[in-house]
Amino acid sequence: MPPKKGAKKKKDKDGKSKLEEKLLYKEEMIWDHLSKKDEKAVMRFAEDYKDFLTRGKGLREVARMIIAAAEDAGFRDLAKVRTAKAGTKVYVVNRGKGVAMAVLGKRPITDGINVVASHIDAPRLDLKQKPLYEDGATKLAMFKTHYYGGVKKYQWASIPLSLHGSVVLASGKTVDITIGEGPDEPVFVVPDLLPHLWRQSQAKRKAPEVMKGEDMNILVASRPVDDEKAKDKVKLAVLDHLNRKYGMVEEDFVSAEIEAVPAGPARDVGIDRSMIGAYGQDDRVCAYTSLQAILGVKVPERTAVAIFVDKEEIGSDSNTGIKSRFFQNFVGDLMALSDRSYPDSGLRRALARSKCLSSDVNAGINPNFKEVHEPQNAALIGRGIVITKFTGAGGKYTANDASAEYVGEIRSMLNKAKVPWQYGALGKVDEGGGGTVAKFLAELDMDVIDAGTALISMHSPFEISSKVDVWSTFRAFEEFYKLK
Ligand code: MN
Ligand code: MN
Repeated sequence: MPPKKGAKKKKDKDGKSKLEEKLLYKEEMIWDHLSKKDEKAVMRFAEDYKDFLTRGKGLREVARMIIAAAEDAGFRDLAKVRTAKAGTKVYVVNRGKGVAMAVLGKRPITDGINVVASHIDAPRLDLKQKPLYEDGATKLAMFKTHYYGGVKKYQWASIPLSLHGSVVLASGKTVDITIGEGPDEPVFVVPDLLPHLWRQSQAKRKAPEVMKGEDMNILVASRPVDDEKAKDKVKLAVLDHLNRKYGMVEEDFVSAEIEAVPAGPARDVGIDRSMIGAYGQDDRVCAYTSLQAILGVKVPERTAVAIFVDKEEIGSDSNTGIKSRFFQNFVGDLMALSDRSYPDSGLRRALARSKCLSSDVNAGINPNFKEVHEPQNAALIGRGIVITKFTGAGGKYTANDASAEYVGEIRSMLNKAKVPWQYGALGKVDEGGGGTVAKFLAELDMDVIDAGTALISMHSPFEISSKVDVWSTFRAFEEFYKLK
């Protein structure tokens, strides 16, 4: 809530100051103002969202779920589409790790498109390309890992982990792996040190070093294989199991992408069930809500696009990150549906006239660590989708800075549709900071603003969102696709 200031002399019958009503910026707890109907919608939406989080733990699984939902709703693989008209629905997959979807609008693409961009990668522990070893003294089989994205490594020790990913075998066949999500399936763990023996070593380290990168080895097995002649019998038992189940041999890890993530389903948080706790809500909350929004688009005025990208958590490089040409190629291919020999200048003009929501999460104030925020400009959970004019750090360096005009357009869109929203920036000045895909999309000359859900404990194995915020994020994207 903004600080109350100004005159309080004129009060109406309800005891409310008319001047305050007229002049002050208002941010309210959404729960206070929900109609019975909206409350039902909020809680129902949350159930489906939790199911999405529970089923989509690995990057490739999330991509597959998005593709399946698109196909169910009549989106077709763009490569198979020959002619198109307003309302035609298409999608393209980027190497199994990213998806772009579009519903063609009544207006030509050169007039600009409305894009919601989210990322579906999430911080995690990746298995190294030569991960497996047997520890000499303990005879325990372990996987070496290399953490992915901004993680506080100590949070990932001594919690149940599941494995998700794909292995490309020597034959060229790809095998998908998921172990540790079903209630009867085994899980894995990075074993931490007991407090009885940490005084001289771990207790003296600074927080980022409490668990060091090379300490993040995952316990895989403890039983030896039945083979008299073999040397590392426990390691061999692991390989034997993987060979029987997936047909793989040790060298196949080199061409594998396997993630270890926190095992288990998304859960309600709080005695009132008002919040959701789960791994991966950054940024699958925006992926899910934008997916639901575009699935509901019929025949938009401007072409509606949702992109779901990889690699945001490590800087957006690589051919599945937003810096790749994939997105521009996708828009070009959409243009080619109506004009096979469209000029490059047409594509550039289309991008320059486009509007974009960089839909990513923001930090909600955590009551345990309020001091890192400047409360007047920080987001709170339960107050609606957060819009953020600029990102970056330390004097706005490396920021995407949405123009006041574009902020104005988005703000009035939200107000007109009565979508609950709040303004929020990440942290105090000079406290730290962060960026999203926004600045890379802005390089294409489009209008881009950050908009997404506030989370508590972002990047932890158990991130917290508010159910009303998830719903208001969805509502905002629905309205965005209506923008002319
Ligand atoms: Mn994010
Ligand atoms: Mn993140």
